[in-house]
Amino acid sequence: MKSVDYIIKADYLLTMEGDLSVIRDGAVAVTGSVITDAGTFKDISLKYTSEKIFDGNNKVVFPGLINTHSHAAMVYFRGIADDLPLQAWLEQHIWPNEMKWLSSEFVADAVELACLEMLHAGVTTYSDMYFYQQAAGKKLEEIGMRGVLGSGIIDFPWRDVAQTPEDYFTNCEALIKEWKGHELVTPCVAPHATFTCSPDKYIRAKELADKYDVPMHTHLAETQYEVAECQKRFGKTPVEHLDSIGFLSERVSAAHCVWLTDREIEILAEKKVGVAHCIESNLKLASGIAPLPKMLKAGVRVALGTDGAASNNDLSILGEMSTTAKVHKGVSLDPTVVNSRTALLMATRNGAEILGLGDKTGSIKPGKKADIVIANLDKPHLTPLYDIYSHITYCMRACDVETVMVNGKIVVDKGRATTLDEAKVISRAKAWRDKIQAP
Ligand SMILES: [Zn+2]
Repeated sequence: MKSVDYIIKADYLLTMEGDLSVIRDGAVAVTGSVITDAGTFKDISLKYTSEKIFDGNNKVVFPGLINTHSHAAMVYFRGIADDLPLQAWLEQHIWPNEMKWLSSEFVADAVELACLEMLHAGVTTYSDMYFYQQAAGKKLEEIGMRGVLGSGIIDFPWRDVAQTPEDYFTNCEALIKEWKGHELVTPCVAPHATFTCSPDKYIRAKELADKYDVPMHTHLAETQYEVAECQKRFGKTPVEHLDSIGFLSERVSAAHCVWLTDREIEILAEKKVGVAHCIESNLKLASGIAPLPKMLKAGVRVALGTDGAASNNDLSILGEMSTTAKVHKGVSLDPTVVNSRTALLMATRNGAEILGLGDKTGSIKPGKKADIVIANLDKPHLTPLYDIYSHITYCMRACDVETVMVNGKIVVDKGRATTLDEAKVISRAKAWRDKIQAP
């Protein structure tokens, strides 16, 4: 018998590997940061012992959820302006507030709130695009959460972040040098979008990412405005434009991809670009509805993202799964287009794969890092239970997530964060709100 650090029992265990079958009376063995084994409790208990055994009664265990597109620090602008046309929302509310408030201190404080919210909702990894990512990296290290931190690149100078556009590349390279190879933090190169980055920025971003072998993150084909601008400036639609300059590859995760031609869907599949589908943000900003069923059919690698909390307005991937599965049925008049298994697969393994973390996280597999969620099924809205995938996709809420492990460490224990002072995080957020709202 081998001794392991944890044995996590589960009435229902979803590994998100193989044929996605459900293991009843399952268990996961964890040693250090790594998953040692997973299977039925009967098999696991014959091979391993542990002083820490999690009771699996009325529990489902599944891999940590992956949020593939966010601007975490924007949680401090949650609900600051809603129900407005995109340009007015951006130009009159979001950009002026970002211009006024953003700093390392703002990002460090706001990221704590974002991580607290995500961990409570079972999200163990998020991919971000923002500024001051050094501050975010330090927070992730303290909190013990996994993140892909994209350092933003745009064409124009911005606050103290960049006196000249060149500074974005200097910042990004410094971020890469500091965090490359870190256990939890993956640095990333993040040219913002086709309407804010000239082709040379995209080309240089790619060179930088290739040089250090790190991922890239961009916004792509989010709005009709973006498509029209791209056609005006470059005579091409956004995906064709980025393809023509050689930017697209497996290294890229592209957020939104709402307005695509059939040819562009083929390009995304051919170039193995990862798409971060952000249905709730797209709905709320009235950007449109991405052709997800077509993308899935064409073999495009698609995962789920929340976008920033100013346009969603929460960071729950459980919410994205439900909305994604329902909206595409309604739009296509076909209830089979996104089923509950596909929804959870997009939220877990696909997410890890498009971020280049497929060998580390996204499923419960021996050798992968122990990023694991335990949720309580003993709730009225989860009763009775016929199909566990259906419940996770259509009924489960963040408050059902009870215990969360990241990299083998318990970061949420029976509903309480272990590495964050929850009351302090919330009171600090309120203090920022008072400052931001002050006349
Ligand atoms: Zn975004």
